Amino acid sequence: MSDQDFKEVDINDEIIDEVTKSNKDEDGTSDKKDNDKKPTEYCYICHRPSDIAGPFIKLAPGMSICNDCMQRTFDSMSNLGFGGGDNSKSNMDMSKMPNISFLNLGSLFGEGPKVKNAHGASTAKDKEDRPDPVIDINNIIPPHKIKEKLDEYVVGQEYAKKVMSVAVYNHYKRVATGHMDDIEIEKSNMLMLGPTGSGKTYLVRTLARLLDVPLAITDATSLTEAGYIGDDIESVVSKLLAASDNDVERCQQGIIFIDEIDKLAKKKNANQRDVSGESVQQGMLKLLEGADVEVPVGASSKNAMVPTTTINTRNILFICGGAFPAMDEIIKARLNKSSSMGFMADLKDKYDNDKNILQKVTVEDLREFGMIPEFIGRLPIVFATEMLDEDMLVRILKEPKNAIIKQYKKLLELDEVKLDFDDEALHAIAKLAMEKKLGARGLRSIIEEYMLDIMYEIPKDENIGEVVITADYINKKGGPRIMMRTLPALPEKAANK
Ligand code: ADP
Repeated sequence: MSDQDFKEVDINDEIIDEVTKSNKDEDGTSDKKDNDKKPTEYCYICHRPSDIAGPFIKLAPGMSICNDCMQRTFDSMSNLGFGGGDNSKSNMDMSKMPNISFLNLGSLFGEGPKVKNAHGASTAKDKEDRPDPVIDINNIIPPHKIKEKLDEYVVGQEYAKKVMSVAVYNHYKRVATGHMDDIEIEKSNMLMLGPTGSGKTYLVRTLARLLDVPLAITDATSLTEAGYIGDDIESVVSKLLAASDNDVERCQQGIIFIDEIDKLAKKKNANQRDVSGESVQQGMLKLLEGADVEVPVGASSKNAMVPTTTINTRNILFICGGAFPAMDEIIKARLNKSSSMGFMADLKDKYDNDKNILQKVTVEDLREFGMIPEFIGRLPIVFATEMLDEDMLVRILKEPKNAIIKQYKKLLELDEVKLDFDDEALHAIAKLAMEKKLGARGLRSIIEEYMLDIMYEIPKDENIGEVVITADYINKKGGPRIMMRTLPALPEKAANK
């Protein structure tokens, strides 16, 4: 008999005790008189009557099982490795197999311990458990204060931060106002353009964290029109529900970030049905505007076995982001066309070296790129992030609250070693990142490569007190500067001897 079997026996004993208790009078004698009150159904496993065990699941005629026993059966299956979770006893994880999902039986009866509904069902305790948000969406602070908070984490990108602060301010003000009067404020969904690694995702993440609202990040490339291989468009909402711990109310005030939105551009000269591009744009229209969406709870796809709930997307803030690779050519062509005419004619190559040309994007450019007008119309706030230059990358390395360098300093501090970076070393790292053309995303991998040896060697020698990373070390021309700990001065008498 395994441990599991022992556990099962204990549980069944508990249940039988409960049944015996229920069949006794208050004075402790068995209740024989009340036979006529006896319920007609008993659980096939624990033999408890339905008035004690709750609603039953009918498996076959004359064979019903109570909610508890059914759940325990599933639980023991998952402990044996059939349901994911702890797989220590088996290597088989059925939850990872396609089309197999284990459901929460409670939700079959509408008890739904996991799903909290939209009307105040998230308990006061849930709310107590969460720390106070930096920015309270129910009492939203003005845009300049939102930007100040963003400044602590996000370096540069002044324009993007300003636009986002105003948009978020208006959005949550709109949510708070609801339908109070006839004038309905338009939704502040955003479209953010910008080169890879310029901090688009980071901006959204930081914002969601400050506001303490759930955030779902999806890649538009994985979305397809319903019925085709790939994720349904509505799956983005079920991701947000999962990020909100299945709390419908919280989910309905969350943020959905759809990255790589440029990949949904209408294909030029396509003569086949475009199931992952234009059709997805079409399919998203309703979501962006505000619609009731039926989403599965606790699973990524709908099927008959998974309970569903309805989410209204009216107050969900959608932010779409993308690098829009060939957009600079479109913008340049438009600008050159308008500036090469008349008295004000300009030089043709005037915009060739403009690194931030994306910031001059207009709705016509987006249309030319392949975004459909209805889609653009539902993302009224369009802006672009700046290309990061060397100085900005250096600032990203050292300034934000959780800057990479601060993190490494803290790590070495735990070994009582002081870590410093020469300014030239920081510039050398930034230059390497620029060469990789990955924006700030390259910084961490570069630093990690150089810090590996340091983190490995330093703890070996307890006498090392300080390490300075030099430009020579980064350029592979030398090593870091290492300083030994100063030993405590000997007492005078001992020193004179
Ligand atoms: P994108 O989504 O534009 O491709 P990310 O937001 O993923 O780029 O940026 C990658 C990483 O670079 C982030 O996780 C963040 O640590 C860092 N980063 C990028 N831009 C900034 C910035 N302006 N300030 C601080 N860190 C940044």
